[in-house]
Amino acid sequence: MGQIIVMEELLSNKIAAGEVVERPASVVKELVENAIDAGSTSIEIMLEEAGLAKIQVTDNGKGMDEEDAVQSFSRHATSKITTEHDLFRIRSLGFRGEALASIASVSKINLWTSDGVNVGTKVDLEGGRILTCKPAPIRRGTDIIVKQLFFNTPARLKYLKTVQTELGHSIDLINRLALSFPSIAFRLTHNNQTIVQTSGRGDLKQVLASIYGVSNVKKMVRFDGESSDFRISGYASLPEITRASKNYITILVNGRWVKHYGLNNAIVDAYHTLLPIGRFPIVVLNIETDPMLTDVNVHPAKHQIRLSKEKELMELVRQTIRSIIHRVQQPPKIMEKP
Ligand code: ADP
Ligand code: MG
Repeated sequence: MGQIIVMEELLSNKIAAGEVVERPASVVKELVENAIDAGSTSIEIMLEEAGLAKIQVTDNGKGMDEEDAVQSFSRHATSKITTEHDLFRIRSLGFRGEALASIASVSKINLWTSDGVNVGTKVDLEGGRILTCKPAPIRRGTDIIVKQLFFNTPARLKYLKTVQTELGHSIDLINRLALSFPSIAFRLTHNNQTIVQTSGRGDLKQVLASIYGVSNVKKMVRFDGESSDFRISGYASLPEITRASKNYITILVNGRWVKHYGLNNAIVDAYHTLLPIGRFPIVVLNIETDPMLTDVNVHPAKHQIRLSKEKELMELVRQTIRSIIHRVQQPPKIMEKP
C-alpha cells in the first residue's frame, strides 16, 4: 500500500515559514514590501517588544477586495505574476505568493483592507486558519497586525535573540527600504517611540541625512555611471568617513535591497588604499538594469540575486566610485598667474 501522502496546506505552509519567517524582521520585510508593491506613499510600522508581541503595518496603498483579502493567505497566491514569462520580468518586490501564507501559519493575524471606494474587509486568522471575515469601514489601504509570532513553533521562538538584537534587524531593514524608496514616507515606532522617520519627498540625500546624520552626509559625494547594460548612481562617503563594518553599504538592484559579495568588494576596492585596514565606507549604490539580466529567485527571503554580466557591472562600479573619490580628494590644480 502506498505510504506517501501529499501533506495538507497548513502543514506545508508551516514548513515553508521556516525559510521565509526567520525572525520578526522577516515579517516586517514581507509586510512592508507588500505595502510598497501596493503603491503606497506612506507606510507606518509599529512594533511592540521588537515585534515579538506585535507587528503592525499600515499603508495607504490600493487595498484588496474581500475575495483577494481571503485569497492572499493561500499558498502560491499572488497578483504579481501570472505566467512563467513574467518570472523573468519582475518589477515588484514580491512574486512568490507565499509570504502571507507562511506568516499566518505561525502567528495570529488581523487584517483590514479597502480600496477606499467600496466597503472594506476584516479578516482574522490564527495559525493559518481563517476565524472570521466580515465587512469593515472604507479607508483606502491595508492595515495588518501580526501577534504572537511563533506561538505554535516553540523551537523557533527559543532561537530568537534579545529584544535589542531583534529590533536592530528591523531598524536596519527599514533604513534600507527608506534608502531604496525616497518617495515613500516611512515611520517605524517601537513601543510607541519613533525610531526611523523619513519625509517621502523623494530626495535620497535627505533620507541619507535622516539615517546617517547631516554631518556625515555632507562628506558624501554623488556618483553616476553607465555601461551598455547597466546604469548606476548613488552616494559614497569620502575616505575620512569610515565605519567598522560593511553594513553601511546598501546595494539596490532595480529598487530591491540585495546582498552581493562581489559588488561589496568592488565598492571597497574603489577606495583602494584610501581606507584604513578594517574600515569601510558608507555607500548607497543604485543599479538599474533589464530584469532579464537578474535572477532573484535564489532564496525565499529574496536577499540574494544572481546577475548576468557581473564582471561588467563590478568594473563599472569600481571605476565610477574610484574616479569620483579621486576627483574630490585632489581638486584640479588652478594654474597660478605668472
Ligand atoms: P507576493 O507578495 O509574493 O505576491 P504575499 O503572500 O506577500 O505574496 O501576498 C499575496 C498577495 O496579497 C499579493 O500578491 C497582493 O495581491 C496581496 N497583498 C498583500 N499585501 C497587500 C497590501 N498591503 N496591499 C494590497 N495588496 C496586498
Ligand atoms: Mg509579498
